[in-house]
Amino acid sequence: MNHEPNGLMQYGLFIDGEFTADADTRWIDVFDPSTEAIVGRVADGSVDDAKRAVDAAASASRAWAATPARRRSEILRNCFELMVREADNIAQLISRENGKSLADAKGEVAYAAEFFRWFSEEAVRINGDISTSPSGAAKTIVQYQPIGIALLVTPWNFPAAMATRKIAPALAAGCTCILKPATETPLTAYYIAALLVEAGVPAGVVNVVTTSTAGKVCNVILDDPRVRKLSFTGSTEVGRILLRKAADAVINCSMELGGNAPFLVFDDADIDVAIEGAMVAKMRNGGEACTAANRFYVQRGIAETFSKRLAQRMGALVVGDGVNATTQLGPLVNAGAVSKVQSLVADACAKGARVLVGGHRVERTGHFFAPTVLTDVPPNADLLRDEIFGPVAPIVVFDTEDEAVEMANDTEYGLMAYVFTKDLSRGMRVADRLESGMIGLNRGIVSDPAAPFGGVKQSGLGREGAHHGMLEFLEAKYISTNW
Ligand code: NAP
Repeated sequence: MNHEPNGLMQYGLFIDGEFTADADTRWIDVFDPSTEAIVGRVADGSVDDAKRAVDAAASASRAWAATPARRRSEILRNCFELMVREADNIAQLISRENGKSLADAKGEVAYAAEFFRWFSEEAVRINGDISTSPSGAAKTIVQYQPIGIALLVTPWNFPAAMATRKIAPALAAGCTCILKPATETPLTAYYIAALLVEAGVPAGVVNVVTTSTAGKVCNVILDDPRVRKLSFTGSTEVGRILLRKAADAVINCSMELGGNAPFLVFDDADIDVAIEGAMVAKMRNGGEACTAANRFYVQRGIAETFSKRLAQRMGALVVGDGVNATTQLGPLVNAGAVSKVQSLVADACAKGARVLVGGHRVERTGHFFAPTVLTDVPPNADLLRDEIFGPVAPIVVFDTEDEAVEMANDTEYGLMAYVFTKDLSRGMRVADRLESGMIGLNRGIVSDPAAPFGGVKQSGLGREGAHHGMLEFLEAKYISTNW
């Protein structure tokens, strides 16, 4: 059960359709990165709680898989309607626990809700096929079945959307699940869980377990042979740990991992479009997005104008408490994130980069870093290799298309890349050559529940959204027969 002593939100673990807490419950405090004040607390789940969650998911599994697709679809549609109804409350909550601006939080809620709508439509389109084998000896019937109980592990940067991007396809496919939200931002997940009850999701179909011991709790879930799926979004480093663990049990994995998106601007780009695109690609979520433009490669003829205009726009952003309606850039998620961004900027400057704007912390309570543009960034600067995850735009100048593509691909990641040019054939040619799961061609944002989201190289395995997202929770079964 959740209640609000002293105005603070409090959630017990959500297992088998109920929020559970008792006198022995240990709690995790949740902080507002804008004020550093406590905004709520959630139960600290143990290994035994994790086992209870798997039991609940297992008990609900058969009935949910047998629920007609039309009914599953209607329940998912209810989830969409309820998220839309609650959009303002959820946005406030996201902004409080994550720090992002209210405008970004509202955008996230709209995006998150759309996964329920999209997968309510997909739930009734789980189609198999039938063919005759090449020898003519048999008929081949292929049908899809739910893969089984799924463990869903999500990060703090999109507390609502990363949860619904997994829950919605899992439920559409007929799977039950256990969601393990990030410890920094767990309140939003529980708020959504309460909406799922109202929407008609049966007890045990979705369970939410927060914990201060993610490794132990996830391990015990993955050790249970009833669990057949791991869907993870987070850092490549933790993704590798979980892949190793999943290998022991041969569990099907979908991994949405880190990024290091290049943002290419050619001389012939529409400069207004490129600047707008840069602001969205860099600053959505304050730079704390896996899709965030991490490296700007700008052709020499346009580089000075682009750099000046980007610095003007970045310098004019209103920095403040995430929930203030006027805020355009909120804080980073915690003190560690600020230190990391600061050391990356210091490293680049020590190696020769020049600060056009920002370059420092903002001196006030909370975890703020000033919007920053760096130019003359040398190739050995760490921020060209690491995810910055903050409001810093490093600019590197290039001369030829080949050089731009080579520098863009010079990374272990391959999630997102942006290309700005008015020459469509150049745009398509470069898009073909970029080693990236997703390309924004003259667009600074590509996220869309109806499109397959995901990366190549060390950015992940599998896709979320689109029809592809539901296939990740389905297993093909083939029946050979003749008549
Ligand atoms: P993270 O540190 O990898 O954590 C992600 C989740 O994994 C959290 O719930 C975390 O729990 C949990 N976790 C940590 N260690 C674990 C372990 N040993 N075993 C099982 N679970 C464990 O990532 P983050 O800092 O929250 O998120 C930022 C990262 O996510 C960035 O790299 C970003 O690029 C990536 N991301 C990728 C996408 C995409 O679609 N490709 C989307 C969004 C974010 P705790 O919170 O309790 O540590």
